[in-house]
Amino acid sequence: MTPASAQSYPQELWTKTSVVLQVAIDTPLRRVFDYLPPTQSQEFPPLGVRVAVPFGRQRLIGILVGIASESAVPLLRLKAALEFLDERPVYDPITFELLRWASEYYHHPIGEVYAAALPVSLRLGQAALGSTEHWSLTELGSEELAHPSSRRAPQQRALLAWLAEHPNAATDELSEPFKPAQLRNLQLRGWIVGSITEEAREAGALQVRQGGLALTGAQFQAVETITATLSSFGVHLLYGVTGSGKTEVYLRIIAAAIEAGGQALVLVPEIALTPQLVARFRQRFTTGVAVVHSGLTDAERRDAWRSAHSGQARIVIGTRSAVFTSLPRLALIVVDEEHDASYKQHEGFRYSARDLSVMRARGAGVPVILGSATPSLESLENALSGRYVKHLLPQRPGGAKPPRMSLVDLRRHAADQGLSTPAMQAMDHHLRAGGQVIVFLNRRGYAPGLFCNACGWVAPCAHCDARMTLHRRAQQLRCHHCGAQEPVPTICASCGQALLPVGQGTERVEETLTRLFPQAPLARLDRDTAAARGSIKTVLDRVHSGEARILVGTQMLTKGHHFPEVTLVVILDADQGLFASDFRATERLAQTITQVAGRAGREARAGEVLIQTEFPEHPLLNRLITDGYESFASSALEERREAGWPPYSRLALLRAEAKDGAALDSFLKAAAGSGHALGEPDIKILGPAPALIARRADHLRAHLLIETAARPTLQRFLNSWLPHVEALRGPKGLRWSIDVDPLEVD
Ligand code: ADP
Ligand code: ZN
Ligand code: ZN
Repeated sequence: MTPASAQSYPQELWTKTSVVLQVAIDTPLRRVFDYLPPTQSQEFPPLGVRVAVPFGRQRLIGILVGIASESAVPLLRLKAALEFLDERPVYDPITFELLRWASEYYHHPIGEVYAAALPVSLRLGQAALGSTEHWSLTELGSEELAHPSSRRAPQQRALLAWLAEHPNAATDELSEPFKPAQLRNLQLRGWIVGSITEEAREAGALQVRQGGLALTGAQFQAVETITATLSSFGVHLLYGVTGSGKTEVYLRIIAAAIEAGGQALVLVPEIALTPQLVARFRQRFTTGVAVVHSGLTDAERRDAWRSAHSGQARIVIGTRSAVFTSLPRLALIVVDEEHDASYKQHEGFRYSARDLSVMRARGAGVPVILGSATPSLESLENALSGRYVKHLLPQRPGGAKPPRMSLVDLRRHAADQGLSTPAMQAMDHHLRAGGQVIVFLNRRGYAPGLFCNACGWVAPCAHCDARMTLHRRAQQLRCHHCGAQEPVPTICASCGQALLPVGQGTERVEETLTRLFPQAPLARLDRDTAAARGSIKTVLDRVHSGEARILVGTQMLTKGHHFPEVTLVVILDADQGLFASDFRATERLAQTITQVAGRAGREARAGEVLIQTEFPEHPLLNRLITDGYESFASSALEERREAGWPPYSRLALLRAEAKDGAALDSFLKAAAGSGHALGEPDIKILGPAPALIARRADHLRAHLLIETAARPTLQRFLNSWLPHVEALRGPKGLRWSIDVDPLEVD
């Protein structure tokens, strides 16, 4: 993708001899479909417009992605497209190219990729730009007003009179008591006519309130340096410890970028969890902020998309898929918490929104800021090698100190339901002193196992190689891998003895803490308590208002919250990540610990963090708590280099699943065989190996790992290999997928 070629659409492709439309259609087939132009069409639109085509017996809407003079199908057998839906592309030119690139890079069907970038209503053919109808009186209407034909319907007469006073009024300017349906009535009688205008393609109004804060020296330097590079491509890693004021830096640079007429795209991991961030944007930029996330209805999503596409919205804040929002005047991209795993889509089109942001910024020739208190090892390595520019915010403004971290040896201290005596004492101390306390455990439910003391039986999931989790309040066993639910058995299925819950989940921790600290109201935040719409806000409000004194939760707690009164964070079980098989497990653990710890002592009161572990001598944990994240990261990078893992190698994972294990194995062996047969010396094909959960929802799962040193080698290999894999006859019901740059290797 080069900026130059992406700036304009190749209009000149239309020649007398070019008669074949190449259309990307939302199907799992990895190809475009050829059509003749619609028989009616006189003028040909540019690439990137929607086109309706016959597909089997259906009428489908695809995207015009190419024009050719010939087709592999004889011209006589090609069908004609039905109609073009747009005069102008529904993607900005950079995104149009980005999507094509992404479909090649992630080896995902092009039609699905182009579809993924549009709101559903646009995929179904709704207008790309909102339109408004304006109304005025006809001669008949004026006559009616002057000499009413009847004394009935005073409302109609009132509306006519209003329109006479407001010539050319738009439908949405109508106010009580008039209703749009009444306009139709007048129109039917021939008293008024409507004319339709598309929404303006103009920059929306902009109102920026200056922030009251005086920047710290480090903030000032980051703002100055990045602002000076606006309008040229560059990747800026904003590495600022938790609470160091990264958001203020974003706000200042965005203000500079959009004051010149540009648009800014801001990606965040999860909007429901960070209402404060959106609020800060709305406060600073009083107009033109559009928010896009999965909780919107499709109509809301369409409206946000339209306002971005038309240029009305000046700032788009959104989650992963917002990276594809059409922004014709894009001037800056910000990716907040760039290390967050939610930027990678885990099924279907497996893209990384962070990586695509970098590609998009490059195509558009604008800067991209990757912000984090715990940057991914990939981004740190890119900064080390000079590809990214690193900006440090090493301190919290206003003198807030980083929290004091220490380890609690679970082998030496008695624990009551997973809570050690030192942790209990610290909680008591902080609560008495008026602080709030966070207790973190990355496991929801009551207990991760229901166990028979007599014979050792553990309640299994009938469909997975996994244990059921006890959810006591819901009185269910639930499988966290396939979603299966069962009533809770009262006796052991094997020997008939009583069963005991083993291990801790957040629900059980809540129970324990309520018993130990009855005077301290508690709030719990995990996927179970957050399931109902609006409940996340309720939980966060209880903490912010100070009503709740203890906050128990999972991963959801780590995401950018700012709780000024929290002075103690207890991490109940650091060991889950220490010995996990995935090569990224320790990186994730270090990020999680640092992020949760960062919720403590963000303002005047000093913070304290206690980490419970059975392995207090573990070098990773020690490095992290004595020297901090960056020191951990440099030793982790060293390990990656020695082991040849990313960022020092490139991976792709071919995942497959089927009910029949032998057939699954032979499919993957055949796939590996066809890969070996290509004779690429620099490609390693590892496996087949079973997935971590080798059976899930009654399907056996296994994979092949492809490893090589350089991206181009990997791409070349996948291009020649995947057609062979597609041609393999797998067993019935076999599903496979390719994941380029997988986050998890299982
Ligand atoms: P981060 O995003 O790096 O975790 P935030 O942007 O949320 O940090 O800032 C943490 C707190 O510090 C916020 O309450 C913010 O208002 C405050 N803050 C940011 N910059 C300054 C500054 N220059 N002076 C004083 N307070 C600041
Ligand atoms: Zn038993
Ligand atoms: Zn299951």
